Amino acid sequence: MTTGNINVSVENIFPLIKKFLYSDHEIFLRELISNATDATLKLKHLSNIGEAQVDYGDPMIEIKIDKENNKLHITDQGIGMTAEEVKKYINEVAFSGAEEFLEKYKDSAKDSGIIGHFGLGFYSAFMVADKVEIITKSFKDEPAAHWSCDGSPQYALEKADKKDRGTEIILHINEDSKEFLEDNKIAELLNKYNKFNAIPIKFGTRTETLPKPEDAKEDDPAPTKEVDNIINNTQPAWTKQPADLEDEDYKTFYRELYPMQFEEPLFNIHLNVDYPFNLTGILYFPKLSNDINLQKDKIQLYQNQVFVTDNVEGIVPEFLTMLKGVIDSPDIPLNVSRSYLQADGNVKKISSYITRKVADKLASLFNNNREDFEQKWNDIKIVIEYGMLSEEKFFDKAQKFALYPTVDGDYLTLEELKEKIKDNHTDKDGNTVVLYASNKDIQHSYIAEAKERGYEVLLLDSPIVSHLIQKLETSNEKFTFARVDADSLDNLIKKDEEKISRLSDEEKEKLNTVLEEVVPKEKYTVKLEALDSAASPFVITQPEFMRRMKEMSATGGGGMFGMGNMPEMYNLVVNTNHDLISQIVSTKTKAKQERLIKQSLDLARLSQGLLQGEELTNFIKRSYDMIK
Ligand code: ADP
Repeated sequence: MTTGNINVSVENIFPLIKKFLYSDHEIFLRELISNATDATLKLKHLSNIGEAQVDYGDPMIEIKIDKENNKLHITDQGIGMTAEEVKKYINEVAFSGAEEFLEKYKDSAKDSGIIGHFGLGFYSAFMVADKVEIITKSFKDEPAAHWSCDGSPQYALEKADKKDRGTEIILHINEDSKEFLEDNKIAELLNKYNKFNAIPIKFGTRTETLPKPEDAKEDDPAPTKEVDNIINNTQPAWTKQPADLEDEDYKTFYRELYPMQFEEPLFNIHLNVDYPFNLTGILYFPKLSNDINLQKDKIQLYQNQVFVTDNVEGIVPEFLTMLKGVIDSPDIPLNVSRSYLQADGNVKKISSYITRKVADKLASLFNNNREDFEQKWNDIKIVIEYGMLSEEKFFDKAQKFALYPTVDGDYLTLEELKEKIKDNHTDKDGNTVVLYASNKDIQHSYIAEAKERGYEVLLLDSPIVSHLIQKLETSNEKFTFARVDADSLDNLIKKDEEKISRLSDEEKEKLNTVLEEVVPKEKYTVKLEALDSAASPFVITQPEFMRRMKEMSATGGGGMFGMGNMPEMYNLVVNTNHDLISQIVSTKTKAKQERLIKQSLDLARLSQGLLQGEELTNFIKRSYDMIK
């Protein structure tokens, strides 16, 4: 037996490891299983290239809890180590790895989500164990070795009589970590980190029901047998070639990833690159509601089929964090801070690769089956619109497939829309005006009027639409968006010469005087306009610019601080060419004039959804009185 000091220069490493990232103690299991997996894959490789004359068989990794003795065993059938290799790899390599890791991160570890996820390796066992033993037998013809260490810098190394190839790690679980002796806890960790581990992991046994023998009587119970309980799928869909997968396979894998999710994904994108970086994965477009914030953190990041994190911030472009699925890449540096991660060249390339793949997939879905794409549009638009706003390259590509639905349920690309409206949607400066609504019910009367007059109206209802149209306007000269209630239609789209007002200047002045008395000044700016006689007599409008700025500041960005607190300001457009207005002007008694205006104003407010509460009650009462 040999004893020795691991390394005298850092005697304090064990207390440090023990203290290391409280919340992350559980990663020890993932680290040890990763080592066991590597050891098994190494053996497979050596046997494949003929350097190891072994019967590779169907090796697995076994996790066993020995509750009585407070021990946890992790056993593999991999390459194993000779005594010399234990000295080299455990006492030197692994130790200096752990030491370097801790030195680098002991101070900054707390303020970064991702640090501590990887890199501590074998010595992370000391986060949960007082004593760790390694019993290992190399595939080479050499005696087995038994290493043990009780958390002091001293270790012991002696011969062991293990006969079968592989390594067994025995953790003597410490007083504070007893939870890791519970079946449920270990099952939970295996499910979290190792659900798709490349080598089968056995955890306990389960009872399997066998078919009844032919001569069994009807009442005989079906025979059962105890079988290994393998907790993982070693070949998850993302590790396969897209050509080998059917649509159904992708759906099955989605259910495997999200067992509690009953809604089917809309479509998927298989990622597969090996140069200049290595990355595989499958992203799914789930059905999204209009709430951007609730649905992040659904993409899982793996490295070589081992779960790392579900926080992919900085790796996946932000607009795609609303998707679901898996990304697996050994090329993403993990034991670094977020800001370093974002500056990393590889990570940048990965991010733009993912963006490009998503754009290409969307373009091909659009081209191959437009009808289907249109049907899905409302469920995916939020991601696409968000992407158009945040990634310039995606914005350019999206021109080909971003859709603009009309209130009648047609879906047009911007090009198609432009073509369709170019002749009759121009304002007095020659700009093409795109009329849109954000809510078919609330803006119903405005939409109806626009349609009656032959205009196309879009239905743009996502929460970030004000940002998007702002962007569309700046990248398309001579192109303006106006919500149907932004102004009177004659002002928004003006083809004809100025209309002549039916009222004389004198009559207008009279009208203005009564209006001033009845209409509250602090809420409405009254504008007399000679509109089409078919247009409404009174219309409440909300100037596009102000409303949009307010919306933009409410949904973040634009630097429009405080805009959200501005009072609502509306215009009351009075159509001097409407019969009702002529009637009001010619009405003799002032009381009746006022009553007509009041009622009209309330009707205008009603059609803007602005009449509520007590005022609505009074309006209804008054209306009943009028008709009885
Ligand atoms: P890393 O795995 O990052 O190299 P570790 O500290 O986890 O660092 O392990 C150090 C080394 O110890 C490994 O590179 C490997 O050579 C050896 N080792 C650890 N666990 C095993 C095992 N189960 N079987 C064989 N060798 C192992």
